[in-house]
Amino acid sequence: MIAGNDLSPYATGPMPVAQVDQSTGYFLNVDDIRREEYPMLQGITYLDHTGTTLYARSLVTAISHDLTTNLFGNPHSGSSSSQLSSARIDNTRIEVLRFLNADPGLFDVVFVANATAAIKLVADAFGDHVEGFFYGYHVDSHTSLVGVRELARLGSECFSNDGVERWLTASAKLPHSQRLRALFGYPGQSNLSGYRPPRGWCSRIYELRKFHGQQIFSLYDAAARLPTASLDLSNPLDAPDFTALSFYKIFGLPDLGALIVRKECAGVFQDRKFFGGGTVDMIISLDYQWHASKQSSLHGRLEDGTVPFHSIAALGLALKTHSRLFGSMDNISRHTSFLAQHVYNRLSSLRHATGAAVCHIYGRSASDEGDSYGPMIAFNLRDAEGNWIGKTEVEKLASIKDIQFRTGGLCNPGGIASHLDLSASELKANFAAGQKCGDDNDVLNDKPTGVIRVSFGAMSNLTDADKLIDFIEEFFVRGCHIPLLPPLTPPATPGTSSFRVQNLSIFPIKSCAAFNIPPGIAWQVRDEGLAWDREWCLIHQGTGVVLNQKKLPKMAMIRPSIDLDRRVLRVQHNIGTSMHMILEISLDSETDNEILVQTCNASSIQSAIVCGGRQKVQILTPRKIADFFTAALEVPCTLARHQKPTAADQIACSLSELVTQSMPGYFPDPKPMSLPKTTFLANESPILLISQSSVDNLNLNIQASDPDAKPVPTDSFRGNIVIAQEPSQRASPYVEDQWTSLEIGEDPSNQFRVMGPCHRCQMVCVDQQSAKRGQEPFTTLAKTRRRDGKVWFGIHLDPATGTENRRIGGRRFVKIGDVVTAR
Ligand SMILES: *Cc1c(COP(=O)(O)O)cnc(C)c1O
Repeated sequence: MIAGNDLSPYATGPMPVAQVDQSTGYFLNVDDIRREEYPMLQGITYLDHTGTTLYARSLVTAISHDLTTNLFGNPHSGSSSSQLSSARIDNTRIEVLRFLNADPGLFDVVFVANATAAIKLVADAFGDHVEGFFYGYHVDSHTSLVGVRELARLGSECFSNDGVERWLTASAKLPHSQRLRALFGYPGQSNLSGYRPPRGWCSRIYELRKFHGQQIFSLYDAAARLPTASLDLSNPLDAPDFTALSFYKIFGLPDLGALIVRKECAGVFQDRKFFGGGTVDMIISLDYQWHASKQSSLHGRLEDGTVPFHSIAALGLALKTHSRLFGSMDNISRHTSFLAQHVYNRLSSLRHATGAAVCHIYGRSASDEGDSYGPMIAFNLRDAEGNWIGKTEVEKLASIKDIQFRTGGLCNPGGIASHLDLSASELKANFAAGQKCGDDNDVLNDKPTGVIRVSFGAMSNLTDADKLIDFIEEFFVRGCHIPLLPPLTPPATPGTSSFRVQNLSIFPIKSCAAFNIPPGIAWQVRDEGLAWDREWCLIHQGTGVVLNQKKLPKMAMIRPSIDLDRRVLRVQHNIGTSMHMILEISLDSETDNEILVQTCNASSIQSAIVCGGRQKVQILTPRKIADFFTAALEVPCTLARHQKPTAADQIACSLSELVTQSMPGYFPDPKPMSLPKTTFLANESPILLISQSSVDNLNLNIQASDPDAKPVPTDSFRGNIVIAQEPSQRASPYVEDQWTSLEIGEDPSNQFRVMGPCHRCQMVCVDQQSAKRGQEPFTTLAKTRRRDGKVWFGIHLDPATGTENRRIGGRRFVKIGDVVTAR
């Protein structure tokens, strides 16, 4: 007997077992299962089980036990460690077939990286056929199925349900001379709407081949279906010829996929040209070139190189753990359908006070019951006036509530076009207007460009479902709001000066901690803003993207200061409570100094990506600097210094484009559809002004809904200039919203133009002292200060008013205590 073969995932202790409620199918003890087995779900509402479901703690312990008590060698040799690996692979292959109720005499399992690799294996074999092939695919196909069409030399067509029926019916009548090889690809479940196209098409195709002599085959993409439904291949008459799946989607782990092949169809792979690793029985390379493909098994011929044997061993454990935990796929199916139906019912009945529906749900309708839809719901939201709410806005708010779902095009181009009613020309126009996969162009020409998708898994519970609905009610259904204190906005009387500068801050490194200007110091104002403000930024070394606190709250712990006497930027990073690291860099790059960085030459000018726009920066490459910031943030990054746009920017821009293209991961587009948008200093405003009175008012609102809430500190808003009123004065929160210009200090020439309000994101929830993220103030801001789908707080100022009358030798200053006079 081979050691480890009977290893039980029970090894580390008792495991809860799902108890099914007979009438609804809901797992009565799902909360216990979550506590024991899915601790990573603590405090999180995870609704993307179609993206991937989660692995059980027992599975991880079983895998670690297995790997640490057994020695696994490279399979297919004589040693016992190698034999152990081979035996595990052979056993797991059969267990996979058993999971699908498939007869090992009729079907084989080919291990591949993922469902896409399984599809590609079939596509390549068909593509290598001398006469080529015709490819038909269903409109709800995932991109992984759509791409096969590029190999179909005899043409391809995207079919609706009716189109499939017509095509199959016509195929039966084709004369012998036109019987060319064809492949039909379709999903077991749409990963967009959850729709499950008929399994019956597989038997139609089987009949066409068996009884009409057609050369037609079925390719069934089971990736989205299998996580929450059984797939029964026990009847070979209605089984797909090729079935693609990803195991991580079913069990959370391992990252592995498979292609299930009807052995009868093995001939198709005779056309495959590539071989490598153990897929051949004999190769001759020296005198002439010849090889014999492996004849012993189909999988032996198709698994190029060493199979992922540790992952395959883990898969064996995953199958066992999963069935012990949940009993059967049918149990999971009932549990998740119950949840999806509950959410569907509640989402579809949500109404604005006007009676208008809040959710527009794609695909599924009230009459769809039973098996025709998987447990996922795709939708978009509308406001009370019927306008679409952008998915990015929904996602931003969801993220502060720790609710996670998928948004966008979901790799399902046909589904998006048909459900969102986007014609080919509209899609092209959107693309030309700059829309790309993964961006935040949510609504173009009054049509959404993507959807919000929530999907459920075996360990989802009713709390997840209710959290989602409560979230939508809280933020998007008018009339459900907490009572709000109306913002007081008395008309600003021109020339009144009830405000003074309370605090001045600069952020020498964009998105890191503030440097507070000490009282009594007059700080220079330049045309671009306060001196040294956002002079530097941090850049991810792999992508060139400028880092920000929204994604990396830890950046708040990097504390830069400007020492004008010694002319250095000093950066401090605290490690724990007693240790800290310090880095100093000269403010004057031409000075020669040990810790300094030399001025750049052209090749160190790169462009960095800031929220989609581009800025020209000089990247500081010395290892010491990169190591400092990389250690502080645990992200490979380095410091970069902004370069002022100059007249030569047109040239510099194309140069910087060139350098960006040399970054890892970049590969050039041979025929770009449109010129990339180049905006210098995008996302920058010269000066951000915050009023203490507005912060105080916001805190009153926060406490109105939760009397125990801690007030949000003013530094959360990361203003450059904080202004405050005398305590004796009647507070005027949000008056700054109405200002058009202001004057700071006694010199009437020290003027600032108001550029407009500041658009906020969830970054305001990062506590600037602890770098911890909370839910406020964004939650309350989103309810009280949201207009046109955006949340506003504070105002942007432009010091470059164009007037030439400047103080002290043309220079201008501000200091704490200066009077602020609004115009
Ligand atoms: C996820 C998915 C795929 C792709 O799976 P990979 O693991 O990324 O290869 C293909 N089709 C459908 C329907 C899917 O849901």
